[in-house]
Amino acid sequence: MTTVDVYGSRVRQARVLRRKTSKAVMAELGWKGARQTRLEQAQTTALDVAELERLAQALRFPTEFFTTAPVSRVDAGDLLFRAPRATTAGEKEYLAQFAAAVGDFLVAMDSRAALPPVKLPVLDAGTSIAIAAELVRERMGIELEAPISYLTYEAERCGVPVVTRLRRSKSTGALSWDPVDDDTTLSEKHLGYATRVGEYGDRPLMVIRASGSWERTRWTVAHELGHLVLHAGRSEVTEDQELQASQFASELLAPAKVIAAEVPKVPSLLNLVPLKLKWGISIGALIRHLAASGLIDEQRFEMLRRQLYTRVNPDTGHTWGKTEPGWDAREPERPRLISRWVERCYGANSAAMLTSHQLMWPQDVLEDFLAGQRPAPSRSTAPDPAPAYEGATVIAFDQFRQRRRA
Ligand SMILES: [Zn+2]
Repeated sequence: MTTVDVYGSRVRQARVLRRKTSKAVMAELGWKGARQTRLEQAQTTALDVAELERLAQALRFPTEFFTTAPVSRVDAGDLLFRAPRATTAGEKEYLAQFAAAVGDFLVAMDSRAALPPVKLPVLDAGTSIAIAAELVRERMGIELEAPISYLTYEAERCGVPVVTRLRRSKSTGALSWDPVDDDTTLSEKHLGYATRVGEYGDRPLMVIRASGSWERTRWTVAHELGHLVLHAGRSEVTEDQELQASQFASELLAPAKVIAAEVPKVPSLLNLVPLKLKWGISIGALIRHLAASGLIDEQRFEMLRRQLYTRVNPDTGHTWGKTEPGWDAREPERPRLISRWVERCYGANSAAMLTSHQLMWPQDVLEDFLAGQRPAPSRSTAPDPAPAYEGATVIAFDQFRQRRRA
């Protein structure tokens, strides 16, 4: 009987990424007792090759995945975000495993072509927000007086890969969030999260939800940068830290001491639009920022906020709070680093093209890694196609396995 050593954390990772319970896996394999749990908790277990084949088939991962040592270790406690109370332990575990999986994919690419070095500073949580934001701009090479035209690109140039999660994941087929959640503008209900991956946990990584709102997408990237810069320690993100990350986001996008000169004498929702468009920050975040920086008084802030969330935008039928003036002025930003590196390392520009490289990742998981990425510019000068936010591709696993064997 031939056996191979199987890594317990890989078994767990594959199961969690498929959103399967141990019970379901055991039922499928006809296993008894706590075998699945024992397998997952052990460092390695010697499994019969035929049994590994069946496990791999049940979890729809190549066998190589289970015999390859994991590199990135991310626990739910390593995630920089404040999960809404309704977030289950299972959901957090999924987000952690997803980040660890992306992390190992990045490690594999980094060994072929070095990723951009990490330039993002790690600061003490007590650092003033203005100083922290200024330092990050300095690392990005962007002057205080200049708007940041494409923040996602700047984050990636600072060594922070950005992954977009589609509402319907390719690898699980499940809808990951309720569309109602998507209505939240400023009170974060997990629009994204950040963590660190890689062998030494020193590669920052950001995972953000695909959103049709350019304001929200940009602001979420800025907010996650705030967490990465200010909250590097391993502890649950507090309400105060959420506020800090949000203040950082606004200050990074629109430095208060620079925009002070541009704020209209009597700010209204409409006369703030030019400021919004110039600096790329939502009016909702902007008025909060102006109030926090003492550039408008509390009374004016309350009035503007009330208008924003009660007046209806006649073009969309939603309140201005949901679709603000200027909501359609830009396309949501999209990351590019991962697609760029996939092309650089494997000459591939899609998950399907990666299958010929015998990677240990299933195609649909790779599709999740690559979701929403901008194609590399060298390929075409045509405008990027809009990412598909909906719909799942059904992967024929047998075909996939046969291709791999071929
Ligand atoms: Zn946050």
